[in-house]
Order: sequence, then C-alpha cells, then structure tokens
Amino acid sequence: MRAFVYERPADVAQAIAAVAADPQAAFLAGGTTQLDLMKDGVWTPDRLVDITRLPLRGILVEGQLMRVGALTTMEQLAAEPVVAQRLLMVREALLAGASVQLRNMATIGGNLLQRTRCRYFRDPSVSACNRRSPDSGCAAVDDTARMHAILGVDERCVALHASDVAVPLVAVDAQALVAGPGGQRHVPLTELWVRADEGPSIEHVLTHGELVTAVDVPLLPAGWRSGYLKVRDRASYEFALCSAAVAVLMDGDLIADVRIALGGVGSVPWRARQAEEMLRGTHVDPVRFEQAGRATVAGAYTLPGTAFKVDLAVATLTRQLLAMTTEAST
Ligand code: SF4
Repeated sequence: MRAFVYERPADVAQAIAAVAADPQAAFLAGGTTQLDLMKDGVWTPDRLVDITRLPLRGILVEGQLMRVGALTTMEQLAAEPVVAQRLLMVREALLAGASVQLRNMATIGGNLLQRTRCRYFRDPSVSACNRRSPDSGCAAVDDTARMHAILGVDERCVALHASDVAVPLVAVDAQALVAGPGGQRHVPLTELWVRADEGPSIEHVLTHGELVTAVDVPLLPAGWRSGYLKVRDRASYEFALCSAAVAVLMDGDLIADVRIALGGVGSVPWRARQAEEMLRGTHVDPVRFEQAGRATVAGAYTLPGTAFKVDLAVATLTRQLLAMTTEAST
C-alpha cells in the first residue's frame, strides 16, 4: 500500500476544510470498502481525513421524519424500533445487505457512496475502465459476467450500484444532508447518483470536499405496508441479482398508493415511477403487475451475461407486489 497522510479533525468544519484544500484528500469512515480499494491499488488518496469520531452518529425521529447520522452503522439503523414499525423494507434491506460483522462497521453514509463492485474497476491491471480512467473504454462489455447492470447503462459502462439499503431509501424519497465549503444543502437520493449512461466516469453529484452528514428519511404513514425482496445466488452475504423494495397503501383490494424501487439492475438505485403510475388506483392483478415490471425494464441494455435480468426483474417485482398487496388487503 502507498504511504498516505492520516489525520483526525476536531469537527465537521475542519474535516471539510482539510479535504477541500487537497485534491488528493478523501474522507474515511467505516473503511469497509475504502481499505480494500487502497490495498488493491485502485484508489490512491494522498491524505485520509478520518471522520469516524465526529458527532455524526445517531437517529433522531421528529414527527414523520427520521434523521440518520451519516456515521450511524447499518446495524444501529436495523435495530431502531421505528424502522421496524414504519420502514420495514429498510430494515429488511439492511439485514440482507451484509454480514453482522460488516453491519457493525459499515456506515450509512459509506454504504450509499460505496464504489461499484465491477471486477474490472477493482483490478488496476485492466486498463479499459471509463469509470476509473475516463475515455479508456470498458472491459466489461465483452464479459459474460452476470453481475452488471441493465438499466441506466450503455456500452461505455455497465457498472451496478450494489447498495441494498439505498433501494428502499430511494423509494421513500429520502434526502442526503450535505455539508461542504459552500454551506449545507439537501440532495434527494434520486438525484445523488449519476447514471452510467449519462456520465460513465462520474458516480455522484457531490463536489470535492462535500460530506454527507445525515440522511433524512420520511416515515411511511400509518396503514402502509412495505418489504424488500432480494434475489441472489446464495442466501448469505451476496450481492443482489435483482431486488425490489415495495411499499403499498391498500384500500381493500385497491392499491391506493405505491412506491417501488429496484436494486441489482441499475447503475443507480432504480425508482420505478412508471410502474407506480400504472398501479396506483388499480386492483390487485398479477397480469397488471407483470405489465408494470415490463414497462420498468423496457429499454434495458443487456449483454449475453445479463440478459436474464430482464425477466428476473419482472418476476421479482411481480412477486413482491403480490406479497405486499395480498397480505395488506387480508
Ligand atoms: Fe469500468 Fe464501468 Fe466498464 Fe466496469 S462497467 S469496467 S466500472 S467502465
């Protein structure tokens, strides 16, 4: 591993100033992804600004909003009672997202900003990677691997956004609270990440020195039901081939309102707004559910190894819609 400067700032302002002043500096939080990337030589910061002791940990519920400090661990959030009561799909995504050891180290802010798991991105001996090296090409498009994305991608990059918890958070319109040299701002999670087909070498909209300090998560109102279904190659500690976060408000057999997002298929956590519009105000109908799934994956960019994800996404969404609507209406 290369030598680097390590520093521990006294407060958030000092941390932001330290990173903003050095183009080769970066924040360090739980480190569960960052250290791997450094050991592999994929990520080579000259200066690490350790924010783990800053007061950015904890969960505050006020009215219909839950503020989650960026350094709150995945395990802490999963154990929060209000999450089980009002955002069950978030709890299910957290528990499906990592082993308990990782959940005790990994932070929510770090999870949202994790780098892609694309094997070529993580192998510095591969030169063709537009994400790592702009305009160098994409080694993955000649690959037969199954773990790439099919939505929000093109021949320049098919990298997948691998976060589980980001999927239900996108479904409920959570927002990142961001602090930076220019002050604070809110960034809706639906706008935090940049689709690979809109900028293969840009992962998110944060500028250098900006830090996610918290995530504001609207609680689902009383009467809503939600759940997260993750389809993967094995039941323990594996990334999603496809996942579906679904929240519904039922009025008898009628879907009064619905929120849907998909994981494991997009270069960003994929909010399925068209499917929501197709289902809002309709009755429970598996055929309609499948049509909504087909509409969501229309225009997918597939490779030989990823073509199966089109049908898998439709089946995953249909199954989760059925589970949520039939249990909710009984
Ligand atoms: Fe790089 Fe994206 Fe291609 Fe992977 S898919 S090799 S991250 S450009």
